[in-house]
Amino acid sequence: MDLWYISFVAALLGLAVGSFFNVLIYRVPRNMPISWPPSHCTQCGKSIRPRHNIPLLGWLLLRGKCANCQEKISIQYPLVELLCGVLGAASVWWVYGVYGSMPWYHLVAVFWLVLTIVPIATVDFKHQLIPDTTSLGGIAIGLILAFFNPQTTFLSSFLGAIIAGGSLFIFAQIMGRILGKAAMGFGDVKLLAALGAFMGWSHALAALVCASIVALLVILPWRFFKPSEEESFAFGPFIALMGPIFYLYGHQIMDFYWNYLQMP
Ligand SMILES: [Zn+2]
Repeated sequence: MDLWYISFVAALLGLAVGSFFNVLIYRVPRNMPISWPPSHCTQCGKSIRPRHNIPLLGWLLLRGKCANCQEKISIQYPLVELLCGVLGAASVWWVYGVYGSMPWYHLVAVFWLVLTIVPIATVDFKHQLIPDTTSLGGIAIGLILAFFNPQTTFLSSFLGAIIAGGSLFIFAQIMGRILGKAAMGFGDVKLLAALGAFMGWSHALAALVCASIVALLVILPWRFFKPSEEESFAFGPFIALMGPIFYLYGHQIMDFYWNYLQMP
């Protein structure tokens, strides 16, 4: 069956992408280049053999230990890969469930929007940093897909990135003036620009509003119970989470809003 076959391919791609995200999650906060040096043991520095570098299987073959120095390899690596494999297959089912068909540009868009939540959530929550590969990469992919998606145009994708990113940038500047400190990182601006490139400015800004509401609902109780926690918080994961939701259901959510929630 087509759906099963495409899900299987998406799961394999997800495993591979997860393996790349492991590199991002480790290297981006440490300011290390992404492509150099090749994968190596963080303890003894020995490079990892190609067959041990296979997502998931490599870690199982090594039984979670470096082949050279026997240092334990964190279970986080295979877990991130497994999660991305599952999310890859799930994104195919999600697209099929919504559209009843599987146009490749929707598959690529949802695959990307769903999977990038993983590194954005991991890196941003810990380090208040969004990897450029996910935000700028998203802008590039969103613009390219707009060429092929008959429901949109390159211009609306381009304007989507500029208007969505630009609005958040201006908002962050104003908030910064009011609060007297940086309200938001430029990473959030680039990430919202990516959503704009995928779904147009109106859906991206609606996603931003929802992300803000959800972030407040999560952060306010957190502050209340743990007032001693550090002050800065990560907004990126909330924006990223809204990405696939507004890509797939943006029209319905906005129709619902205009029809039921607007005052007459
Ligand atoms: Zn080692």
